[in-house]
Amino acid sequence: MAVTNPHLPTATILGYPRIGRRRELKRAVESFWAGRTTADELEATARDLRLTTARRLVDLGLDAGNAAVPGSFSYYDQVLDAVALLGAVPDRFAGLTADGGRLPLSAYFTVARGEGDNAPLEMTKWFDTNYHYLVPEIGPDTPIGFVDDRAVREFTELAQPADGGQAVVTRPAFVGPVTFLLLSKPADGSPEGFRPLDRLDDVVAAYADLLRALAAAGAPWVQLDEPALVTDLLDVPFDEVADAVRRAYATLATELSPGADGVAAERPAILVTAPYGDLRSEAGDGLALLAGTDVEAIAIDLVRGAAPTGPVPGLETKTLVAGAIDGHNIWRADLDARLTLLEGLGAELGAEAVAVGTSTSLLHVPHDVADEPRLDADLKSWLAFADQKVAEVVTLATGLTEGRAAVADRLAESTAAVRSRAAAPGVVVPAVRERTAALTAADVERAPYAQRAAAQQARLNLPPLPTTTIGSFPQTSEIRSTRAAWVRGELSDADYTAAMRAEIASTVALQEELGLDVLVHGEPERNDMVQYFAEQLDGFATTVNGWVQSYGSRCVRPPILWGDVSRPAPLTVEWTAYAASLTSRPVKGMLTGPVTILAWSFVRDDLALGDTADQVALALRDEVTDLEAAGIGVVQVDEPALRELLPLRRSAHPGYLDWSVRSFRLSTAGADIATQVHTHLCYSEFGQVIGAIDGLDADVTSVEAARSRMEIVPELADAGYGRGIGPGVYDIHSPRVPSVQEVTDLVELAAKSIDPRLVWVNPDCGLKTRAYAETKESLANLVTAARTVRATL
Ligand code: GLN
Ligand code: ZN
Repeated sequence: MAVTNPHLPTATILGYPRIGRRRELKRAVESFWAGRTTADELEATARDLRLTTARRLVDLGLDAGNAAVPGSFSYYDQVLDAVALLGAVPDRFAGLTADGGRLPLSAYFTVARGEGDNAPLEMTKWFDTNYHYLVPEIGPDTPIGFVDDRAVREFTELAQPADGGQAVVTRPAFVGPVTFLLLSKPADGSPEGFRPLDRLDDVVAAYADLLRALAAAGAPWVQLDEPALVTDLLDVPFDEVADAVRRAYATLATELSPGADGVAAERPAILVTAPYGDLRSEAGDGLALLAGTDVEAIAIDLVRGAAPTGPVPGLETKTLVAGAIDGHNIWRADLDARLTLLEGLGAELGAEAVAVGTSTSLLHVPHDVADEPRLDADLKSWLAFADQKVAEVVTLATGLTEGRAAVADRLAESTAAVRSRAAAPGVVVPAVRERTAALTAADVERAPYAQRAAAQQARLNLPPLPTTTIGSFPQTSEIRSTRAAWVRGELSDADYTAAMRAEIASTVALQEELGLDVLVHGEPERNDMVQYFAEQLDGFATTVNGWVQSYGSRCVRPPILWGDVSRPAPLTVEWTAYAASLTSRPVKGMLTGPVTILAWSFVRDDLALGDTADQVALALRDEVTDLEAAGIGVVQVDEPALRELLPLRRSAHPGYLDWSVRSFRLSTAGADIATQVHTHLCYSEFGQVIGAIDGLDADVTSVEAARSRMEIVPELADAGYGRGIGPGVYDIHSPRVPSVQEVTDLVELAAKSIDPRLVWVNPDCGLKTRAYAETKESLANLVTAARTVRATL
């Protein structure tokens, strides 16, 4: 097969969910991990899935013959795939590689999940999504080469299918070389000053070999994802990133020949994508940068990014893939408006051709709205999951090439859906709007901290170094199966309530026995810290099959926030009050904060995020009032996602921090001065949000700190934080039980860097993923350590 056509078809997508409509890949991978199936069986399932997916995309209207369908499969994670492609495996896993440095499938999973003392690669958020990638560790001596041709084989398998059925010529997709290195961290033992980007030439040489192999296999196009170009949070100045991009693509695009009459191609045509944001910012012009290289096509994000103006030198020989359909959210597009935007774009920018694409991979949305039998019919008509989005792309592409008349019906349908959504009951609820409109600065202010602290101490009478937990206790398999039976209708409401109450009673008794100072009810009734609230609030809907990959085989079903939010009835009061009735010690009510609820839901696109957050905050504020009325004196509002939602451009940070901090304060500032407000943040590196932590104005803030040995405490003190602080002394991510001595040392360390009267003693995070055996021992040690240090104060 020869490279034939340097033009991409007018309809394409940047990627598609990999996990399968019924989570087939998750099941297959997990049964391989459990030893129930062999690697060959797993590979066969994956092959079927790739074939079905590619053919499905062709049925939905993508061109089968010319690289419209992305080859975006992964067994676990696309960044880990790049590690495997390059054989860039950290030393501790070197023994797992086969001849030539290739990672066999089982070893690939070991790098992702760890084994014995060998920690897995660290996991972190992929741009501003809730997808997590594995962080490569690159040092001066990390092996880097083209060691794994899996992607080439996958290309051939679909281009020449063994079953003789529909062939699909895909466009193999990879994390681009610059982004790969910018997302990597220096391997342990790297010399001072070494940066993974120092290995650019090696990575580019390996990618050049990859491109040669793809060309030899007949791949007409390859896709290299360079989302690092849309953020300035990676701590490398734009000029250096630009230099790396120029060097990388001089080698890949200029030095390798794309082939011409009679000359064999050394590489496929190259599409570089820049999803998740704007290529242009005050830091620099990434669009001009890419247009200045010799790649054949550039994909830009027209949902997160503004429509660029031109002309852009270099684009006159390139295809611009206009990411007009949102890959990140689930709303049906206003196709008429999108088509208008597209019609003007090619001429404005001076591009040789315009193709229609998604703004990002469709990885972040579920498969198919048709798989949601229980969603309200109107709501369903406003939604587009992955399959509907492919159809939208195809419609726009047809409209662009054949004219509006060719798609008039579909444009009209889309316009009707947009209108019906705007006018539907529940989307705008006047009472909710009136309430947010009437808010004033006073609604986010509490009395000065000193006054609150005195009133709270008088009420709670806590010892120095009070002990508490972050909220959840182990979610045992009994709890899960009880809930599952109730959801299936096999258990009555009364029986379910009784079972949860019994669980709460035993959790309270355990905490009393352990001698904790501030107790919790243990959250047995919560399936998930966001879904639990979304199911009870007006304005949200939840799905049955709306799974989205979060990391590896883990999937979540984000709720859909479609209308104005209000609270028809109390959300948590009954459970918390029941726990409080069982003990004379203070019980802490447990709520999920507005920012976290938004971060882990599909949010509406017809209202500013800050306004939506205010609505959620008011619902929580009413819950706080009801908890107080039920006698609860301590309320924790969790905001583990506060840092996650930080925009990818620094210039947008002040605006974000303004509304996010404000909404947290709105949810808590109605509390009486004698009610102690806690918050919990799930990480220890505060970086750009450290000022915001203080701004939340919580009476007590608990954070992760065990692994970083309390580093955060002096940092917070330096930033002027002067209220209660609970640095985690017990790493709940591992079953290991910390000794009394270890915890004592950590408590002493914390008490040295900040006024000891502010210090609380608690684990790093909730205990829901732990087992009871280690939980009991760890908490017993924690209480003993707190008492030991307390005695010395
Ligand atoms: N209260 C929640 C729990 O303990 C907090 C979880 C979180 O921070 N992610 O489970
Ligand atoms: Zn946490």
